[in-house]
Amino acid sequence: MSVLVTGGAGYIGSHMVWELLDQGEEVVVLDRLSTGFDWAVAGGAQLVVGDIADQELVEDLIRTHDVDAIIHFAGSIIVPESVADPLGYYLNNTVKSRSLIESAIRCGVKHFIFSSTAAVYGSPEQFLVNEDTSLQPESPYGTSKLMTELMLRDCAAAHDFEFTALRYFNVSGADPDQRTGQSTKGATHLIKVACEAATGKRDHMDVFGTDYDTPDGTCIRDYVHVSDLVNAHYLALRRLRAGGGSLVANCGYGRGYSVLEVIDAVKAVSQTEFEVRVVDRRPGDAVAIVAQAERCRSELGWQPRYDDLRTIVSHALQWEAKLSRRNRQ
Ligand code: UDP
Repeated sequence: MSVLVTGGAGYIGSHMVWELLDQGEEVVVLDRLSTGFDWAVAGGAQLVVGDIADQELVEDLIRTHDVDAIIHFAGSIIVPESVADPLGYYLNNTVKSRSLIESAIRCGVKHFIFSSTAAVYGSPEQFLVNEDTSLQPESPYGTSKLMTELMLRDCAAAHDFEFTALRYFNVSGADPDQRTGQSTKGATHLIKVACEAATGKRDHMDVFGTDYDTPDGTCIRDYVHVSDLVNAHYLALRRLRAGGGSLVANCGYGRGYSVLEVIDAVKAVSQTEFEVRVVDRRPGDAVAIVAQAERCRSELGWQPRYDDLRTIVSHALQWEAKLSRRNRQ
């Protein structure tokens, strides 16, 4: 019996693979390496290079490896890019997920864990959101993920098939043992960008707007450590296998930090100064969004271990330094 991880050569997926191996699972990774790296896949897992919408390949993999669960990360993840290229996002995140779900159901895979996103809520009236907050995505990225959640809901009603959709808040940090981390080129996410500035890979960084209605004028997010996040997936897998039924749950810590607070934390932990320029707002950004994550704790028994901004930043900075050494080789 094994677990199929799509996008397992990417940032979150590569951490998931380590978590599963640490827990004694057999793992097969399907990744087309468009943004991920083969070296990011732990040696104990088998990497197959291919597309999640190649049904012949996927169904062969499921049968050959006796896959009982799919954890689906493969997809496109950059909000402004989705605004510029909506059809690309609906293809990668919605159409291809449909194909993967169909393969799962056809082959009798009963457990499916999906990487959803806080972007399904858009800009909520209350910055604290629970799973019943109205779903009003403001970007094609958020809509593309929500459409997949809805497909999963309908398939769970129609078939012998159950799913967990975890709505991620701002995933950041790196494996505390530095076995993997955020390695994507052309990163746009705040902590990664700030760590690149702190390690001299950028000569400055931009803050997208200081005129928001927040205490310091910058947007507020709930930053969750990637290792805590993948542990929630493992707990979700155990719950599904135990017959726990389908579930949608937020995954965040329930605490928000502003952009400037994050930058201060990166400067403090790295003990470096770097130039920060204020520029215009970025399209598609919500003012403030923070998880109410009681469901994740109560349903999954999730107990985060790295709920501390400086710990997250410290792990991210260590990975950035390691990545520099690796890229110099
Ligand atoms: N941000 C920023 N400068 C950057 C990257 C991000 O000011 O170089 C801001 C962005 O406008 C948002 C917050 O940081 O308010 C988090 O953005 P990120 O892209 O990390 O995640 P998102 O919440 O968009 O998924």
